[in-house]
Amino acid sequence: MRIYNLDNRLALGRTPEAAADVETASRGRFPADIQAVYARWDEFTAWAAAFDGPPDVAIDEARLGPPVPRPPQIFGIGLNYRDHAAESGLALPERPVVFTKFPASVTGPSGAIARPAGSVDFEAELVAVIGRRAERVAREEAWSYVAGLTAGQDLSERELQFAGSPPQQFNLGKSFTGFAPIGPVLVTPDEFADRDDIALGCLVNGRQMQDGRTADMIFSIPELVEYLSAVVPLLPGDLIFTGTPSGIGWARTPKQLLQVGDELVTHAAGIGTMRHHFVEQ
Ligand code: ZN
Repeated sequence: MRIYNLDNRLALGRTPEAAADVETASRGRFPADIQAVYARWDEFTAWAAAFDGPPDVAIDEARLGPPVPRPPQIFGIGLNYRDHAAESGLALPERPVVFTKFPASVTGPSGAIARPAGSVDFEAELVAVIGRRAERVAREEAWSYVAGLTAGQDLSERELQFAGSPPQQFNLGKSFTGFAPIGPVLVTPDEFADRDDIALGCLVNGRQMQDGRTADMIFSIPELVEYLSAVVPLLPGDLIFTGTPSGIGWARTPKQLLQVGDELVTHAAGIGTMRHHFVEQ
């Protein structure tokens, strides 16, 4: 099942090129507001699985918004790939490294992002979307709390991220306007041949910068759901940015950071591609 935010309306993928507007197709049972559907995820997916109507809207990339426009909470996971921990010069974490991106930083899968001053870097990531309230969930049950997966960029301004002693600005450095692009679509876990092994990466100006697989994550999505939900309830529509593989600009010699005019293309197998360019703030 593929769920789109098309012109700010919830749409259900029918073919690779076309979708059904859900408010219309369900005769108003489900509203156009895509964020609202996560609170009724089981009811919605039961309806969608039985729906056999035709598509009525074209999937136009330029009209896609974030599949989760207003997540209640966003969790970010640091150093979750062995090769990325190594390039950062840090030991493998014994427990997940957790930060937040403030929800107002969410944006859609294409378009311009204003580049703030400083050292702006890319981090291609798989993003898990929560579909049921999760409290003290064991890893064995965790996938049933995940509505689906999408691609994300954990954009990061490194100078603010590492400023201060001790450095406590991860959250702000990762939350500038537009620093949490997600999309282009939410894909339910059953659609993947192996939901624990998804290829992902990104290119800057056509050059491949990151190219990894989620099977290399230190803490899997079920382990992250278990770890986080032991502390705080995970809510329908929450996002977990699950960490980035190696190849970030900050770890390169010389550093290769995002500049005004750069194009950033982010891809995840079975999900699709996001395309952003950077403009003056
Ligand atoms: Zn990250």
